[in-house]
Amino acid sequence: MRYSLFNIIANGLTGQRFSSPAWRQVAPKPAYDVIIVGGGGHGLATAYYLAKQHGVRNVAVLEKGWIGSGNSGRNTTIIRSNYLLPGNEPFYEWSMKLWEGLEQDLNYNIMVSQRGIINLIHNDAQRDVYVRRGNAMIVNGAGARLLDREEVRSYLPFLDFDNARFPVKGGMMQPRAGTARHDAVVWGYARGASDLGVDIIQNCEVTGFLRDGDAITGVATTRGEIKAKKVALAVAGSTSRLAGKLDLKLPIESFVLQAFISEGLKPFMETVFTFGAGHFYCSQSDKGELVFGGDLDGYNSYAQRGNLPTVEDVCEGGLALVPQLSRVRLLRQWAGVCDMSMDGSPIIQVGPLPGLYLNCAWNYGGFKATPASGWCFAHTIAKDEPHPLSAAFRLDRFRTGHLIDEKGVGASPNLH
Ligand SMILES: Cc1cc2nc3c(=O)[nH]c(=O)nc-3n(C[C@H](O)[C@H](O)[C@H](O)COP(=O)(O)OP(=O)(O)OC[C@H]3O[C@@H](n4cnc5c(N)ncnc54)[C@H](O)[C@@H]3O)c2cc1C
Repeated sequence: MRYSLFNIIANGLTGQRFSSPAWRQVAPKPAYDVIIVGGGGHGLATAYYLAKQHGVRNVAVLEKGWIGSGNSGRNTTIIRSNYLLPGNEPFYEWSMKLWEGLEQDLNYNIMVSQRGIINLIHNDAQRDVYVRRGNAMIVNGAGARLLDREEVRSYLPFLDFDNARFPVKGGMMQPRAGTARHDAVVWGYARGASDLGVDIIQNCEVTGFLRDGDAITGVATTRGEIKAKKVALAVAGSTSRLAGKLDLKLPIESFVLQAFISEGLKPFMETVFTFGAGHFYCSQSDKGELVFGGDLDGYNSYAQRGNLPTVEDVCEGGLALVPQLSRVRLLRQWAGVCDMSMDGSPIIQVGPLPGLYLNCAWNYGGFKATPASGWCFAHTIAKDEPHPLSAAFRLDRFRTGHLIDEKGVGASPNLH
C-alpha cells in the first residue's frame, strides 16, 4: 500500500523527503520492442496491458508534454456503455467491466462513481429510439431502465418540468454509468505500467519516423532517434499530423471540444444527465462544481482553447433545462482536440504500414473507452491481429462500407 495512511502521515511529517515519484523518471534507451506515441489514457493503458497481459515489457511511452495533458485530462469524465450497435456495445461494456475493477487492479483511487446517467426523453419518437437502445444494452449485459416523467423528477427534481421549451417526458437510465477522475486514471495506469518495467518519457515529442522502405523502424524525437520493432500511435487529435509525416491521409478531422466548470455548489445532482433536445450534459463533482459540456466548436483547429459563441450555445442548452443555472458563476473552461471519424466510431488497427499500429478516432467519447481501448490495442500490438471486441474498428471500413454509424448522421464528423 504505497499510499497508506501511515505513509501519508510519515511523509507529511518529514517534508516529503522520503517519498518517491509515482513512476520512474528515465531517459530514453536507444531501442525498444514497442514505442507508444502519446501519454494519454489510451497510450498508458495500452502499455500497462502489454506488460501485464502479454509480458511485453521493453516498452516506452513517449509524450510530448506531460502525461494527461491531452484530452485525457480535459474531458468531462463520463463513463458509460449505453451504445446500440453490435460493433460498439460489447466493446464499451467490456470497458465498463474493466472500470468496475480498475481501482483494485491498479491499487489506485481513481474515484469511479457509478451514480448513473439519465438521457432525457422529450418526445415519443425519442422514446422509441431509447427503448431500442436500452434493449440492446440489456442484451449485452449493460443494463438499462426506462424512466417515466415522475421517476426522472425523483432523480432530477431541479429540471424545468412545467415550462420548458422541450418538455421532459421521461428518460433512459444506465444505473452502472457514472464518472471517474480523469487525471487519476492517467496517473494510475502510468504507475502500474512503470512498476512493470515500461519507460514513461515526458517532454519527448515525436517529430518523424525512421523507415526501411515502407516499414517503420523507429521514431525521430526532440530527444534523439529511438529504434523500435513496433510503433503504436495513440495521439488523439494529433493523429492526422503524425500520419501526414508518413504521407497517410486518414478519414478523421480534428475538432475542438470545450469543457466547463462552475463554482462549487452544495450537492444536489445525484446522477449524470444529458439533454435530449439540445446538446448539454452535466454532472456534479465531489467538490460541488458542475462539470458540463455540449457541442463541438464547429471548425478544425489544434488550439486547446475554444471560442465564445460555443460557450453561449452550451450555456443556453443548460438554461433551457435548468433555468436556475443562470445565477451560477462559470469558474473555468478549456478545450481539447478531438479526432473525429466520418462515422463517429474509433479505429484500432494493425498497420496500415508494416511496423505501425493505429489507435485513434475516439471522437468526443473516448474517455470511457480507455480501459478497453488499452486492453484491445495491447492485444493487437502483441499478436498482430485485431482483438475480437475491437475487430469492427478497422480502418478499411470506410472503403468497404462497413461503417459503424451509431448516430446515423453519416460522414459529418462535426455532428458525431
Ligand atoms: C472537453 C472534452 C470532453 C470530453 N468528455 C468526455 C466524456 O465525458 N466521456 C468520454 O468518454 N470521453 C470524453 N471526451 C473524449 C476523451 O477525452 C478522449 O477521447 C480520450 O481522452 C482520448 O484519449 P487518448 O489517450 O487517445 O488521447 P489524449 O489524452 O489526447 O492523449 C494523446 C497524447 O498524445 C500526445 N501527443 C500528441 N502528439 C504527440 C507527438 N508528436 N509526440 C508525442 N506525444 C504526442 C499529446 O500531448 C497527448 O497527451 C472528451 C474530450 C474533450 C476534449
